[in-house]
Amino acid sequence: MSRPLRSSAGPVIALAALMVVSLPTAQAEFVQTMTCQPSGFNRCEPGEEPKPVRWYKQFVPYRVHDLGSPSLHPDSPDITDDLKESVFSSFDEWNNQDCSEFEMVYEGTTPSDFTGYNQNIAHEDNINVLVWRDDQWPHAGYQAVALTTVTYRPSNGEILSADIEFNTADYVFTDTEDSAGAIIDFRNTLTHEIGHFLGLDHSPNPAATMFATAPPGEIAKRELHPADIEGLCHIYPLGQSFDPEDNIEDYVPLQPDGRERRGWCSSTPSTPSPALVVLVLVVLGLLRTRR
Ligand SMILES: [Zn+2]
Repeated sequence: MSRPLRSSAGPVIALAALMVVSLPTAQAEFVQTMTCQPSGFNRCEPGEEPKPVRWYKQFVPYRVHDLGSPSLHPDSPDITDDLKESVFSSFDEWNNQDCSEFEMVYEGTTPSDFTGYNQNIAHEDNINVLVWRDDQWPHAGYQAVALTTVTYRPSNGEILSADIEFNTADYVFTDTEDSAGAIIDFRNTLTHEIGHFLGLDHSPNPAATMFATAPPGEIAKRELHPADIEGLCHIYPLGQSFDPEDNIEDYVPLQPDGRERRGWCSSTPSTPSPALVVLVLVVLGLLRTRR
């Protein structure tokens, strides 16, 4: 299920891009996020070729919001070490795979809860953040458990920014070992969202962390399935150069008036069946015309 999220200033052009990559083993499929697709939703513009959406640097920093989520730690107004450890453990699942040297690096807390990409500040000041929305879910009309916003350049798929929001205003999360019942497991959710953060889309393999559905209380997706690892290492294989100039023909460094396309992904519980949490990918493209 895919649908546009919201309209915004400027023309809304492109939507979801999926490319299924089939591997020799029957149970190991992954899907890579693409800048556009040849037909259907998020159709490529005339002459536009779909390109993988990915980072072109080996070490990608991220920060966590300094308030954390008081709903997860009611005795503390600030983020706790326990919650940070849960965050680290989800990132470590992806960081610790031997087939890739790609790494997402914790750089501390931040008071900023801005998600997306701000063209009016320096590129390096656009930090990647994890934010818990305890008071209000800011995406009106779109109920999601969590949402990853990936901003990338449609010309070459280079990710400029990725941010993850958790809807702790509307859903009960837990990060304890026992997540039974109709409660959303934090690490189960975060490990999935990190897959989007680094350029993966939903997998057709029901056992994969990147699969589109998960029952409440599920914790299996805290750990990666071989399909997820194959995806990671297909995008970021050992020995590859992370220099965009080695990877992208005619690479042009980001210009202040450069085009961007922004993609969302979210996890939403299905309304008809409370027994399922449906993780829905929605990529909404905002194509900005040159000023
Ligand atoms: Zn998802």
